[in-house]
Amino acid sequence: MIELPLQKSKIGFYFHIPFCPHICPYCDFIKTSKFTKKDVTSFFEELTIQLEYFISKIPEYTKQHITVYFGGGTPGLFEASYYENFFNILRKNYIIEEATLETNPYTNIERRFEDYYNIGFNRITLGAQSLCLNTLKTLGRKHKPEHILNNIAWARKSGFENIQVDLIYGLKKGVRTISIQDEIKKLHDTGASGISAYALTIENRTLFAKSDYANEDIAAHEYLEILKICSLLNFRQHETSNFSSLETFHNNIYWYGYPYIGIGTGAHGLLPPTQENPFGIRYKIGNDSEKTYAPGNDQLIFSDKINRMKNFSVVYESPRSQREYFEEMIFTLLRTPKGIPLNWLNKYSNKENINEILKQNLKIKRAIHEGKILLSEVSIALSPEEKIRGDSWVADFISLI
Ligand code: SF4
Repeated sequence: MIELPLQKSKIGFYFHIPFCPHICPYCDFIKTSKFTKKDVTSFFEELTIQLEYFISKIPEYTKQHITVYFGGGTPGLFEASYYENFFNILRKNYIIEEATLETNPYTNIERRFEDYYNIGFNRITLGAQSLCLNTLKTLGRKHKPEHILNNIAWARKSGFENIQVDLIYGLKKGVRTISIQDEIKKLHDTGASGISAYALTIENRTLFAKSDYANEDIAAHEYLEILKICSLLNFRQHETSNFSSLETFHNNIYWYGYPYIGIGTGAHGLLPPTQENPFGIRYKIGNDSEKTYAPGNDQLIFSDKINRMKNFSVVYESPRSQREYFEEMIFTLLRTPKGIPLNWLNKYSNKENINEILKQNLKIKRAIHEGKILLSEVSIALSPEEKIRGDSWVADFISLI
């Protein structure tokens, strides 16, 4: 496997908490805003059952380091007491190196940050999206810029050092009325340790499906602005969208191809490699027939019946082949700063002299000459500026190898 940067955890746990206070028109995650207290209680009980099930499947990781991530949805809707039981179960079996909670500035409450910190969370992500009021309104967000700044201050005061703020860029002309650089600078000065910046994409299953809010040219321009300001602020680029002055352990698990246990309806996971399945097996909780992916994005997407909770469905894919592993890794590694290690490429491509093959390809040769691709003795990577076009390079790399 590819060496992980500066961390002990070799496996991550992802909990999907699908409840939201309202539905944002651009969002195609699995979530619902129609739920009762009983639904929530049932759902958390179901999560515990799923967690115990998957712990029993990976005995080889007992007492090892892990990362934990509660994503959504809006996990920050709930008090720390909802998460305590998961920490207890996980601590009995593992050492938690990093525990992240996704939160929403609209619903966060000051006193909760201290409780989250005290039960063991050491990283907060904040679904801010922008400090520009007009951008927030266009994105259908209910919070105001001052909520975001208050949230960062509350998290800092409660002990959090790792505070990652999500931003959306690439909206059509006239929507963002302050520069993205000014936004990032302000977030940094208020105490954020990093940002995750995503270009707005219009997804079919959303209320934005027929809108023209996304603009690729503006996205390309703003991405370069983001690179510049993050470099000035010492927010290092860990992946195309992720910039932080601190490490980002859970996300590294995905980017470097390590296994992760996904829990919660609609979550997916990758079981660790074994002798019979050296590239692991992917799975998903729940299945498509349950209307979890219907347009409108607001289905009740989990079981609320006790008898079904004990029989939650796990849909396993067939074992991952070497080729699938290889192609998936090309995709994620091209997004990382060091790119693809050449010794790994030689091993999994089954081709000798892979750097010669790469260097002789006309398109790659030209890109090296133009500084878009960085080829060294040990790795091949896209330059930071070229990473935004990373997906379009994947097919070129795969066809050569
Ligand atoms: S963007 Fe976040 S808060 Fe909005 S609907 Fe999606 S998951 Fe919920």
